[in-house]
Parts: sequence; C-alpha cells; structure tokens
Amino acid sequence: MGNGDGSSLDQRGVDRRAFMAGAVATVVVAACSSGGDDDDQSGSDGGSPASTAPLAALPGELRPEDVPDEETIFGWIDEVFGQGVRRPGYDADVWVEGFLEDRFRELGLENVRLEPVQVTRWEPREWSLEVTPQGGETRTLDSFPLPYSAPVDELDVELVAFDEANPGAVAGKASFAAEELLRLAPTAFVAGGSAPAETADRVIDPDGTFEGAEHVLPFGSHLQDVMEPAIDAGAAAFIGSLVNYPGDSYQYMVPYDGVARPIPGVWIRGSDGEWLRDQLAAGPVRIKLRIDSTAEPFESNNVVGELPGADDQVVMIGSHHDGPWASAVEDGSGISLVLAQATFWAAQPVEQRPHRLVFLLHAGHMSGGAGLLRYIEDHRAELDDVVLELHLEHAALEFEEVDGELVSAERCVPRWFFVSRIPPLEQAVIDALTSEELSRSMLLAPDAIGSQPPTDGAFYHNEGVPIVHFLEAPFYLFDEMDQLDKIDRENLVPLTRAAIRIVDSTRGVSAADMRAGLEA
Ligand SMILES: [Zn+2]
Repeated sequence: MGNGDGSSLDQRGVDRRAFMAGAVATVVVAACSSGGDDDDQSGSDGGSPASTAPLAALPGELRPEDVPDEETIFGWIDEVFGQGVRRPGYDADVWVEGFLEDRFRELGLENVRLEPVQVTRWEPREWSLEVTPQGGETRTLDSFPLPYSAPVDELDVELVAFDEANPGAVAGKASFAAEELLRLAPTAFVAGGSAPAETADRVIDPDGTFEGAEHVLPFGSHLQDVMEPAIDAGAAAFIGSLVNYPGDSYQYMVPYDGVARPIPGVWIRGSDGEWLRDQLAAGPVRIKLRIDSTAEPFESNNVVGELPGADDQVVMIGSHHDGPWASAVEDGSGISLVLAQATFWAAQPVEQRPHRLVFLLHAGHMSGGAGLLRYIEDHRAELDDVVLELHLEHAALEFEEVDGELVSAERCVPRWFFVSRIPPLEQAVIDALTSEELSRSMLLAPDAIGSQPPTDGAFYHNEGVPIVHFLEAPFYLFDEMDQLDKIDRENLVPLTRAAIRIVDSTRGVSAADMRAGLEA
C-alpha cells in the first residue's frame, strides 16, 4: 500500500486526517515477525565485514585504509553519550562543542571555529502530577513536562477529556488528550512531493523487508503542535496520554521547536491514560500539577572546520551536536558520522578532495533548529558556491515490542535519503547505497513530507542548495530510551563509505552545474 499513501501528502505539509487513515490501515500489519527474517542484508548479521575482510576499493585514488573502523566510530558515540543529557545549553552539550573543536584541530582542519547561536536552555527541575477521582484515592502518575511549556506552582483543577466536537469544555480546566505515534508503510513517502512518477528504482530493499512491514514514526498526527488544541480552547493545563507508545514510555521530548507555551503540560504513560479515562467515565476527576522548570537564553555554538580541496567551491558535511537526552542515535551517531568524514578526508591529499570541505555541527536542533537558521543568516552569501550539503543523521536499529518487552529487530530503521531532484546526484546516491549494500534505503524528494525535509539541514533546501540528507526516524528518537543499544553499529562503516562516495561524485561538478541539473 506504500505508494497509495503518497496521495495523502500535500505540498505544504502533512494532511493529518489522510495520514491517520493510512496509519489505521497499516496498524494491522504489526511488527510480529521477530526472528523470522534475519537475513535482511549483508553485513547485518554478526561481525563487521569491513573490519575483517580485505578492504573494498573506493573510487579513484581514495584510500580505503583511511576510513575509520567501526570501533572508532562507535567509540565517539560512546564518549559523547557518556557525558549525559545534551540538551541545548546543558553541560554535556557545551562539552561536546569543545570535544569537536579539539578533534577538528587534531585532524589538521583549517578555520576551526565556534560560531555563536542563541538558544533557549530549557530545564525541568521538579514536577508531579497527582490525580484524585471523586470519592477515590489520590494517585501520583509518572509524568514528564512538555518542553517549553509553562511552569506552575500548584494547579488544582478539574480534568476534562478533550473533545474535538466540543473543545470549549476544557476552558479553565486541565485538558486530557491522547497522542498516538503514526504507523505507516515504510515506503509511504517515496511518491511524496516532487518525486518522479516511477519510483521503483528509488527503493533499495532487495530482500523485500518492507513488504507488509510498518514504520512507527516518532510523531503523532499533531507533529509538534500537540498542545495547541488545548491552548486554543482556553485550557489551564495539558495532560497528554501516549497511547500505544512502544515500551509504555512517557519520556517524550516533544515539542522541541523552542516556542514557549502559555500553559503547563505533562506527558503520561498510555497505560495510565487508560486508567484515567476509566475514572473520567465514572465521575469527576481533579488533578494537582506542579512544574518547576526554567527556560533561559543561552549562547551555544555551531562548530565548524574546513579542509581545502581541488577548488574553492564547497561541499558541506553536517549534523547537529545537541539532543533531547544523552541520545546515542539523536545525534551521537550524526556527530560521529561527521567526525568519520573529517577523519577520512583529512587523510587524503588535497587534490583528492573534490572541493573545499566544510564540516559543520549545528547547535540548538532541539531549540527550533537555531544553529541551522543562524548559519544560513551568517553565510547566505556563500551558499551559491555550495555544490552539495550532505547531512548525516541517525544510524538506528529498529526495536519492536514483543510480549511487552522492547527488543531489537536486528535490522536498521528504514533509511531515508532526501535528495534534490538532480538526476545525476540521485544516481550517485543510488550507486553509493548499492555499492555499500545499504539495503532498507530509499530516495525521497526533498519535499516528500513537507516543503523541506524534516532534517536538521531542512532550510538549506529552501535556500536552493543541492542536498543529500540521510535520516532514520525511529519511534524512540526523542525518548530517554535512545541509548547505545539502539545504534546500528554494523552499518557505521558502510554509511561512512557511502557518504565518501557521494562526496566524491561531485568531483569536477561546479555549484552552477549542479543547480543546472535541477528538476521540478
Ligand atoms: Zn538528529
């Protein structure tokens, strides 16, 4: 049903009702095939061929022995993860800026620098949600404050279930709402946006693992606007139940757009939400909500380093250095994939680098993409000379719930490659993915899901910069459970080699030539 879902997408964003209809249709195809097909791709079943077998060649005179091995790349993720919660402005995020600056200098990059970015440092300190059904006992539920929602000393108020047909009923009360992560066919977005009519060659899944499978996304139908219906209805607070969330978690750091919300709000477990719904059906329920949190301006930094190349036009290679938690995948993996590129290209002679290479780790992804927006403001005049902006985010293993337990499905989350509609660039990406046997991959149009890709590099596309944005979107992306066991270790080297091939494919292609190939 994959391509059928393409019709549910519009140019400006997600048609939520159609989106949900697709989700309902696919939900029956539950991920119940654990252990069935573990031969999904080469290199994914034990061992790392790249580290034991003879080194496979790279194009031209690029030296495969300079590709960092799996242990090295994973070691960087481990070190970054070990610093703790890396939200914008937190100590761990400040640490990682220094760590990256040091690595860039050690590698001999030039123009290594920190470029200031204003972010909002949000920190929840103490909070609690007590629930008292009429005539019943008070229960304290596990909860997590919604980022950038308002603090509150003690709000004692009635809880009312939000009803789209009668939103006014929650005015002055606490609005109780359900949010459910979207479940779609893995290829639901392949035909989206400006994708060509024929999409078969844009899906690389030789073992057919996408057939009948579902992809649990890290967002529900409201995306980041989860509180807005309650706010618009005049509610005094938002209580969000994460219905059917794998692992029954409540540590969901959404929204992360950095926009202050005027009312307090917390997430609760879906199982507690079911209990609450039963209580509401039986009679009135009151809540007591306390949230002590701060949201303060903080000066964070984009970390930048450069390598001269065959000419002075530019290939940018980026990701972001902050995250919602200690976040191994989001984006310990992106940081490390960029470090792997810097390590490799620094070891090649200058004439082997196709263009000047700019390595860039944005600040403030979790603060409304502040680092991305700042970099564009500061460097807009230089973007015409950018041949390609390659963004690397999220080497993630798929996890699924089996008998109430979350277990690895021992395969990667579907890999999205958002690629500008430039046929030679699209072909270069397909060739790179095929050469490195990166199955479970697909090319998406940059506007497949909205007017720009849902990546940390989103707005380079809007600026007309040719892009290749790699992104995997596991359901746990914004959850505390994003830990080292979620990393797709065995594909760190193949992903690195594929990125090298993509960068190399721009050899001899000017920024103007690349744009001249633009379609759609
Ligand atoms: Zn990311």
